[in-house]
Amino acid sequence: MPFAGCPNRCSFCDQHSITGKTARTTPYDVKNTIEIALSSGGIDTTSSEIAFFGGSFTAIDRDYMISLLDATKDYISNFKGIRISTRPDSIDREVLSLLTGYGVTSIELGAQSMSDEVLLLNNRGHNSESVRTASKLIKAYGISLGLQMMTGLYGSSDELDEYTAKEFIALHPDTVRIYPTVVLERTQLASLYQSGFYEPQSADSAVKLCSRLIPMFENAGIKVIRVGLHSSDTMETGMVAGAYHPAFRELCESRIFRNIIIEKLRADNTPKGRIAIFCAKSAVSKVTGQKKSNLTYLSSLGYFATIVRDDSLKGRQIIIQEG
Ligand code: SF4
Repeated sequence: MPFAGCPNRCSFCDQHSITGKTARTTPYDVKNTIEIALSSGGIDTTSSEIAFFGGSFTAIDRDYMISLLDATKDYISNFKGIRISTRPDSIDREVLSLLTGYGVTSIELGAQSMSDEVLLLNNRGHNSESVRTASKLIKAYGISLGLQMMTGLYGSSDELDEYTAKEFIALHPDTVRIYPTVVLERTQLASLYQSGFYEPQSADSAVKLCSRLIPMFENAGIKVIRVGLHSSDTMETGMVAGAYHPAFRELCESRIFRNIIIEKLRADNTPKGRIAIFCAKSAVSKVTGQKKSNLTYLSSLGYFATIVRDDSLKGRQIIIQEG
C-alpha cells in the first residue's frame, strides 16, 4: 500500500521503489492476494497472517480502511490474524477497538528513531512520545507490538541509534525490525546526499552497528524479525547510496559470531596459532563469514582457525580449542 494514508513525505521514503507498486490497493486486490496464497497450498494458515504493509494503515481514509478489512472477513478464520503497519501518531482507542473487531492481532509502528531531533530532521511528523503512547496503548489492547527502527538516518549517529534500541527495549515490543538507511532516488535524503549535506552509513558500518543491536534485543527477549530492506528490482534500481546488501542479516550474523569469538579468545587468553572452532551445523557458514571473511580476520590477528561442526551445540554456542 505505497504511501496510503501518509500525511507527509519522510526524508528517506519512496514506497513505490520499496513495494514495487504504484497503484492504489483495492478490496479486490486483497481478496485476490488471499485467494492466490490459499490456492498455492504452500502456506501454513495456522501461523500465517494477512498483512497490510507499505503505508500508514490507520491513517488512511476510514471508509477505505474498512473496505480493505471487510475484504478479509471471509478468510480470517483461515489465518492466525491480521498484521498492519502504521504511524505512531495514528493510534488511538477508537481505531484499536475497530481493528480488534476485524481480527487484527499485530501492529507494527514505524518509529524509526527515538531521538526527537532525528525525527524532526527526517520530516517524520511525530515525536518519540507518540511512539511511547501508541506502544503502551497497543499492548493494553492485547495486540502484539512490533517496532521498526532505522539506522544511519540524517542527523543520527551510532550512539543515537543505540539510544533508540534501548528506548525500544523499555517499551517491551514483541518484535523489532531494523532497517539501515538506503538512499533512494526522488527522496529528500537523495538531495541532501547529492548536495553533500548527508553522508549515509556504509554497509560495513551498518553491519558493525546492527551486530551490536541484534544481541541487545535478543538478550531482552525481543525477536528481531527483519534486518535490512527486502531486495526488489525497483528498489535496487532506485538506490543512490546507503547500507544495502541482499544478504544483510547474514552479514550481521557473521559479525556477531566474530565478536563472540574475539571475546572468547580474549577472555581465555588463548595464545596465537592454530585453533579449532566448534559450532552448530546451522552456524558453520556464519562462523566462517562471507568469502571466509571471519577466517581472514582471525588470521590477521594471528589465529589460524578450522571450523568444526558439532551437533551438540545450538544457536550461537561455540567452543574454541587450541591446536
Ligand atoms: S515512511 Fe511511512 S509515513 Fe513516511 S512517507 Fe513512507 S510510508 Fe509514509
